[in-house]
Amino acid sequence: MIELLFLLLPVAAAYGYVMGKNSAKNQAHEQNRKITSEYSKGLKFLLDREEDQGLEHLIKLLEVSADSVEHYLILATLFRKRGELDRAIRIHELLLKQPSLDVQVIQSCKLALAEDYIMAGLLDSAEEHLVELVKANYQEALTPIIQLYSQTREWQKGVNMYESHAELFTEQVYCAAIANFYCEAALENQAQENQTNDYLERALKLPKTTIRPLYELGHDALGKEDNVKAIYYWRKLVSQFPCAVPLVLQDLHICYQRLNIDHEFHALVNDLLTTSGVLVKIKHCEGLVESGHTQQAVAYLTDSLKREPSIRGFSFLLKLLATRQDKFHSVLNEVDNLVSAYVATKPDYQCRNCGFTSHKLYWLCPSCKSWESILPSQGVDGY
Ligand SMILES: [Zn+2]
Repeated sequence: MIELLFLLLPVAAAYGYVMGKNSAKNQAHEQNRKITSEYSKGLKFLLDREEDQGLEHLIKLLEVSADSVEHYLILATLFRKRGELDRAIRIHELLLKQPSLDVQVIQSCKLALAEDYIMAGLLDSAEEHLVELVKANYQEALTPIIQLYSQTREWQKGVNMYESHAELFTEQVYCAAIANFYCEAALENQAQENQTNDYLERALKLPKTTIRPLYELGHDALGKEDNVKAIYYWRKLVSQFPCAVPLVLQDLHICYQRLNIDHEFHALVNDLLTTSGVLVKIKHCEGLVESGHTQQAVAYLTDSLKREPSIRGFSFLLKLLATRQDKFHSVLNEVDNLVSAYVATKPDYQCRNCGFTSHKLYWLCPSCKSWESILPSQGVDGY
């Protein structure tokens, strides 16, 4: 009989195992039911616009299911898109109070909260969170904090941030922003001359070269009648950024003329012919005319316009022809006046990022808020 009882032991063990498993299943089932119930209640309250109760229910759910954090982030983004910033802020603030979140979730939640604050005009609160993120080497925080300091014109804060976390500024777009922060700070401190130069020189030492420091250093030198220095900076500018040549070409020519080395300017123009636009071609033709080769200038420009049509080039060609054709002088001048009037209506600058156009040069695009994205216009009507 006792042997028989021993034989039943495996059966009892198997029974215990199955019962235990069922109990665990039941617990999981009960938890799921609780989650679904709280989730439904919370969403119902939100849909009924009973915000506080709705959010309380959803937050209760967090205590039982940290996996649903992603859903809350989506929900908050939806509220933000609908302009319901107070709700988006409340969800993000409550999420940040949860003890069990991992570092990555906390960081993306802080970034989202900072974006809510910016949209709501709570700039100090936004800055606080963004500064914390930058200190934690969270690169995604750079764009919003740069936009924030651009908006508040707190150049020095931006410069300090860069100098403390230079390793984060690896991309051209970040370097362009910081270079412009240095330039803006330098121009605001023009009374203290040494500081101006120091700031502009520091902007040149960023990991990526950008347009504005070279542009401003050249102008600073030109203002002090240091033509050699102006030529030094602007030659660097035109060789590295062919798209920016129209910004300085005329002033660069003046520097060479003051030093009586016009021939060196025309040698530089020759070097730029293949990479730059119509303004360089016009300068090339002016050089040919000055040295008595007007016919050569007409032939060069006609050939060039066939390959790359340009209204500004056409206008210059009309002027050249008018000087040579006594018979048609007045007619050609009339046509040129019409073409010039048309050109004057065309924008001089265009944002490469959003297409914003203007007659004035802005270093910060008023439309898309990008730094150094506005450059001289290109194409048939451009430079
Ligand atoms: Zn733009």
